[in-house]
Amino acid sequence: MDKKYLQSVIPFATSANLKLDNASGTLFGNYKGFNVMLFPLFNLRTFQISVAVKRQGVSPSLPEMQQIAAMSKKFLGACAVNGYRVDFNVKPSGLSIKSTVNNNLLHALEAVAANLSRLGYENCCQVCGQTDNVGTYFAYNCTARLCDSCHQTYIERNDAVKQEKSKKTENIVGGIIGALLGSLIGAAAIILISQLGYIAAISGVIMGVCALKGYELLGGKLSKAGIIISSLIMIVMVFLSNQLDWAIILHNEYPAYGIFEAFKMMNYLLLNDGIDLSVYIPQLFLLYIFTFVGAAPTVSTAMRKQNMPDILYRMDEPEQTTDNTAESVIN
Ligand SMILES: [Zn+2]
Repeated sequence: MDKKYLQSVIPFATSANLKLDNASGTLFGNYKGFNVMLFPLFNLRTFQISVAVKRQGVSPSLPEMQQIAAMSKKFLGACAVNGYRVDFNVKPSGLSIKSTVNNNLLHALEAVAANLSRLGYENCCQVCGQTDNVGTYFAYNCTARLCDSCHQTYIERNDAVKQEKSKKTENIVGGIIGALLGSLIGAAAIILISQLGYIAAISGVIMGVCALKGYELLGGKLSKAGIIISSLIMIVMVFLSNQLDWAIILHNEYPAYGIFEAFKMMNYLLLNDGIDLSVYIPQLFLLYIFTFVGAAPTVSTAMRKQNMPDILYRMDEPEQTTDNTAESVIN
């Protein structure tokens, strides 16, 4: 975890009597009677405050939780309820997560704890609602409050997912065929849309998406190698479709040349000033940019899937949940 981030939250954790999980950056602990988990959302420069609670055996209702958020709307944003689990988004302040910590986080936490207490909620397991032996976990890129038996279920489910994942091996030949087929759809789009007289933004995007999806579909999964191979295919295919696009224009102007003759002539014309480069180069450049725009989200999703920490661990000490007396005194 980023050192700067850890340094910026340590004073907060100390003052709110919360613990810090160095690996995930999560702040957790018992705050005024509630076992809270404060998970950093770096891209949004803020935190998600999560609790698992019930009242008289019943899970929290979304309207009631939304009311809590609305009452403190200066510090709390959207909220979500999933079974016994409630996630409150803290409103970001300023340009860094650090300023959110300094300005909004304590107010948000205070509002959540005070209102849950006022409404008569108590801590429980986020899955089954049980109150005994509930621990605070980090489970596959997310925080979780789980009882022992739900924790066991999580482990078993994860083992099944892992097995499924390892079965799915990459088939590079299939991937290459998929990327080629996908890029043909992209090439067709580039040529058709250009011949209709439009700027080919969307066709570049189609090229980027189809080539990568084609690889993933026939290759089983999209690895780093797959991304590189698909990118090379895209670079070549964008160039060739642009050449063919120009060849068609050439053929339309000089019908004596067939399209494929014109296609072959393109290289000669390019090297011998036969083509207006001030038109040709920006057009090709734009096409590459749009292809990149289309490919980027698919690449980033694939990378995130690969980098997802495939881990489940307990953040708090098991004794802590059975003995809250020390914290209750402080609170
Ligand atoms: Zn449970």
